[in-house]
Amino acid sequence: MDQSADYIVAGAGSAGCVLARRLAQSGATVILLEAGGLDRTRLVRQPGMIAIFHNVPALKKRLDWGYYTAPQASALGRRIPQPRGRVLGGSGSINGMLFVRGNRKNYDDWAAAGCTGWSYADVLPSFKRLEDWEDGASALRGSGGPVKVTRQKDLTPASQAFIEALAATAGVKKIDDYNGESQEGATVFQRRRSVATPGWAAPSSRPSASSAARKFPGPRRSRTSRCTRCPGPIRSPTRTHRSGRRSTSAPP
Ligand SMILES: Cc1cc2nc3c(=O)[nH]c(=O)nc-3n(C[C@H](O)[C@H](O)[C@H](O)COP(=O)(O)OP(=O)(O)OC[C@H]3O[C@@H](n4cnc5c(N)ncnc54)[C@H](O)[C@@H]3O)c2cc1C
Repeated sequence: MDQSADYIVAGAGSAGCVLARRLAQSGATVILLEAGGLDRTRLVRQPGMIAIFHNVPALKKRLDWGYYTAPQASALGRRIPQPRGRVLGGSGSINGMLFVRGNRKNYDDWAAAGCTGWSYADVLPSFKRLEDWEDGASALRGSGGPVKVTRQKDLTPASQAFIEALAATAGVKKIDDYNGESQEGATVFQRRRSVATPGWAAPSSRPSASSAARKFPGPRRSRTSRCTRCPGPIRSPTRTHRSGRRSTSAPP
């Protein structure tokens, strides 16, 4: 693989795959680096494998960093597993495939605390652009994006009755779309119908023969590569902390 590019993205998880794809779409040449291996396994590709994968140590070792918390006083001193994907697609390759946007208030609070560009109104266009929602586009939802999102199908009668009963007896209102106006209420889950890499990294990229590094070809624009780190919510702050630098980033 040619070792030069306009951008190097370190960490091919949920964020890194999106970033690499968007940069490549803008015409840049991108090298996407991943510490873990390729995601060509049923453990990643097949919905429902998450329960098996997380409970069988030999399988977990293949795709997970194997983090544990410090001993937890409130859990009899136990160290609790803290799963994090170490594979192309990152934690997005080992997660529950439930499609849940961050809460509107969190974003607005971050913006109010000085995190410019991160209010819900600021990030909403990115949320809309990434999805292909089964009901189509609206003021709050997007269509035509790379991630197909559908409601959970084949609900059991018991699950359906549970949602109805919450509204009827506990005052928990039934809502249609928790990624829309409000997240408060009871409804069925929305599912992402793909893992991160087919949706984002794969279509226009070439995997290296020997590793999970990928290169997105594009016209060369500069000789100097810019490097962006996307190593995930545990390794990002750890690395920033160790380097002594402040983290600065904006929505993709
Ligand atoms: C078990 C589990 C279930 C979850 N379920 C859901 C769910 O159902 N719905 C939902 O929306 N979210 C879910 N999440 C959360 C979601 O998956 C994460 O928030 C998201 O994937 C984080 O994306 P990220 O890009 O920040 O990090 P990650 O996706 O973790 O990506 C970081 C990547 O960087 C790589 N990396 C780290 N260090 C280096 C380095 N030095 N060099 C190169 N590469 C490096 C890692 O190996 C990894 O591939 C779940 C998470 C877990 C762990």
